[in-house]
Amino acid sequence: MTFGIIIHGGAGVLRTHERLDDYRKFLGVALKEGYKVLEEGGDSLQAVIKAIYVMEECGAFNAGVGCSLTVDGYAELDAGLMDGSELSVGAVASLRNVRHPIVAAHLVMTKTDHVLLVGDGALRILEALGVKQDTSLVTQEKLQRLNELKKEWLESSNKFPKNKALFSKLGTVGAIALDKNGKISAGVSTGGYWLKLSGRVGDSPIAGAGFYADSSIGGAVATGIGEYAIRTSLCKSVVEFMAHGETPMDAVKQGVEMITKRFGSGTIGLIALNKKGEYGYHYNTEGMGRGVLTSEMKQPILGVFREDDT
Ligand code: ASP
Repeated sequence: MTFGIIIHGGAGVLRTHERLDDYRKFLGVALKEGYKVLEEGGDSLQAVIKAIYVMEECGAFNAGVGCSLTVDGYAELDAGLMDGSELSVGAVASLRNVRHPIVAAHLVMTKTDHVLLVGDGALRILEALGVKQDTSLVTQEKLQRLNELKKEWLESSNKFPKNKALFSKLGTVGAIALDKNGKISAGVSTGGYWLKLSGRVGDSPIAGAGFYADSSIGGAVATGIGEYAIRTSLCKSVVEFMAHGETPMDAVKQGVEMITKRFGSGTIGLIALNKKGEYGYHYNTEGMGRGVLTSEMKQPILGVFREDDT
């Protein structure tokens, strides 16, 4: 039985990324760690959590330690997780100062009867389940960056497009895995984007928008401007395209095309994996970190820009 994992490190303006070397390096580390779980016979949900945990911890992505700040200087994180065999979902949104939101999402899935917990209520429940807040997610360096971005933003006449261009200097992280038992799981974790309003929730904790998995078909995970993914139920649509016979590569291309047509380019990236272990990734941004490794492949695929594929 084919098994494998595909991950992303966020789509966006990446050539000017201050930590591009780390970004590439930890994509590789996360891919290997996630794959190892599958190789040892582990569950795809655990593989997804492992890969995302590594990317949250390393600080090179807009998730966990590396998260962006809201316009008021808060670290408010979103994450979502889906088990494609049970169709069970766990997600958290607007969660302040939590280092590993993907672990929090898993707790929501396994320890509560809900699919999505937000804000202070979520923090109280999660604290009782052992999740601690970590104020070190808001650093002096990030506050300084926030002030610079705010200044730039306020001085620009066309505010939202400016905000849009700034959204992903660092990327959100996501993963989809297929294990030896045929179970597909998908997960995503993000700080959202710089200058988002406090209280804003993106696509990452919304099943069907930022992530979706169904073991009888496949899974999809999005990165980019979450509002567009929510407005189009993007990941559910991509899984539907696969259900109608499209390969994961064609399905993500169609998903990206749909967003580009409606909302323009520079807006979205997608990864997908089907039950046969076939994968797809596509984006309409300058770059998108991605990694793929399945039991059918001799070498992993790792890349950020288009030229990395050649
Ligand atoms: N989709 C995320 C959000 O809108 C951001 C990203 O993928 O970079 O919160």
